[in-house]
Amino acid sequence: MSDKIYDLFIIGGGINGCGIARDASGRGLSVALAEMNDLASATSSASTKLFHGGLRYLEYFEFRLVKEALEERETLLRAMPHISWPMRFVLPYHKDMRFDSTTPTSKLLTTVMPWMKGRRPAWLIRLGLFLYDNLGGRKILPATTTVDLTHAPEGAPIEARFAKAYEYSDCWVQDSRLVVLNARDAEARGANIMTRTKVTSARRVEDHWEITTEQHGRFKAKMLVNAGGPWVMDVIQGVAGINSSENIRLVRGSHIVTKRLYDHDKCYFFQGTDGRIIFAIPYEQDYTLIGTTDADHASFEETPTCSDEERDYLIQFANGYFKQKLTAEDVVWTYSGVRPLYNDGAANATAATREYVLRVNTDGGAPILNVFGGKITTYRRLAEAALDEVGKFFPDLAAKWTAGVPLAGGDFAPDGVADLSQQIATRYPFLEDKHVTRLLRTYGTEVFDIYGAATTAADLGEDFGAGITAAELDWAMRREWVVNADDFLWRRTKLGLRLSSEQRARIGAYLEAASG
Ligand SMILES: Cc1cc2nc3c(=O)[nH]c(=O)nc-3n(C[C@H](O)[C@H](O)[C@H](O)COP(=O)(O)OP(=O)(O)OC[C@H]3O[C@@H](n4cnc5c(N)ncnc54)[C@H](O)[C@@H]3O)c2cc1C
Repeated sequence: MSDKIYDLFIIGGGINGCGIARDASGRGLSVALAEMNDLASATSSASTKLFHGGLRYLEYFEFRLVKEALEERETLLRAMPHISWPMRFVLPYHKDMRFDSTTPTSKLLTTVMPWMKGRRPAWLIRLGLFLYDNLGGRKILPATTTVDLTHAPEGAPIEARFAKAYEYSDCWVQDSRLVVLNARDAEARGANIMTRTKVTSARRVEDHWEITTEQHGRFKAKMLVNAGGPWVMDVIQGVAGINSSENIRLVRGSHIVTKRLYDHDKCYFFQGTDGRIIFAIPYEQDYTLIGTTDADHASFEETPTCSDEERDYLIQFANGYFKQKLTAEDVVWTYSGVRPLYNDGAANATAATREYVLRVNTDGGAPILNVFGGKITTYRRLAEAALDEVGKFFPDLAAKWTAGVPLAGGDFAPDGVADLSQQIATRYPFLEDKHVTRLLRTYGTEVFDIYGAATTAADLGEDFGAGITAAELDWAMRREWVVNADDFLWRRTKLGLRLSSEQRARIGAYLEAASG
């Protein structure tokens, strides 16, 4: 064990751990972070990938959360205009759409307007969208409009019984890239980021923590941050040996991916007759992403996968809207993640709060900060709130700083995408347009570091298919903790969708040989 005593030792390399590591390092704290697998290997690569206020949370009266998340959308968009971008959501209206009967709004409406029998009236959706437009200080994103689906192109792929829709704004984010860019920023500010490092035990010794990892020995820290996501209780009880009355609710969400189902670039927000909603979203240029489900998940020890039942539920839900009827054969990929929600005793998984909760425990010595819940959208605000707690033990802590500071590759204006695309195409004329878009949306201005002075495709080394070259893989290993094919193909990118199993294996072999 080295004698160095870190200020903070963070367990968990998802968005919350990496967001806190970045914020804390930038305020001058010495930080170590241990992630037992790859960065973003759990929930933070399995989200719907929206920077959103969460329109449906308004029905649960979660105004604080919605306001904070709405405000964050544009702050985040400005700091990462490469990996996030505005999207328009088309919400077709039909009079049969119903509330989840447990929402406070539904209960209220049933009392005052019993004849509605649980239906969501159009005026209420309009009111919700008015709030959504105005709660969060929107400047970049356009406001809600009404769409005549009988004439607009957005009406073409869906059934004729939907004549009218509302269209509102939210944003997309490449979730697992967000995590790795936060980790890189933290590292650039001095943090020690350790992947494939499982924390097996943490004990209070005198005024600090002694932390044992399976792979890299022992560490000391003045404060522990538990950002274990679905493992948060395991870290409290199993790793740190603390008795705790806190509780979380594990709620699994699954998505299915199909070949692209329609031509335009907008998303659909579909309401079901069961009170739930799902999204259909243009994905990775050639695909459509459909999700999500909400199902209680038994244990953090059980790897989440999309069950046949969940897949069929999503297919059926989408088939209630799209003219093209999907079958299980149309599904090219599925993924599944577990929301580690703070247990507020809600009646069902859909209703459980999406708020984050921070709890500090100082029983018998050095502090531990436990992070419960959260959303990708609020990760930066969660990190600021976490640093408020940390500051109680580090009185000289610098002020908050992350709003407005771009992540690597994001140092251009949100309306500068076309310009950057042009610059990339001019500098590397051998690239196809689709490839330029992919690089821009993955690396932003860092494309120029990765491709350097290349003047032909051959200058980038071996071509592994789908535009992946040795130059890109080498950079990902050097700069983004890529160790194996899955790290690169399913987290730093989603290029796994486009490759055969032989091509994936070839990349695995290349990475293995290169890492010696
Ligand atoms: C289906 C679904 C859809 C979602 N959609 C959205 C969305 O569109 N927008 C949005 O804002 N939010 C969304 N969310 C919420 C968001 O994804 C999560 O709130 C967020 O990713 C949680 O991040 P985390 O860092 O807390 O957890 P995780 O990403 O799970 O990270 C925790 C990490 O801790 C590590 N760990 C645990 N124990 C140890 C140990 N002992 N040693 C070392 N490492 C350890 C794990 O390996 C893991 O990587 C969605 C969530 C789900 C499940």
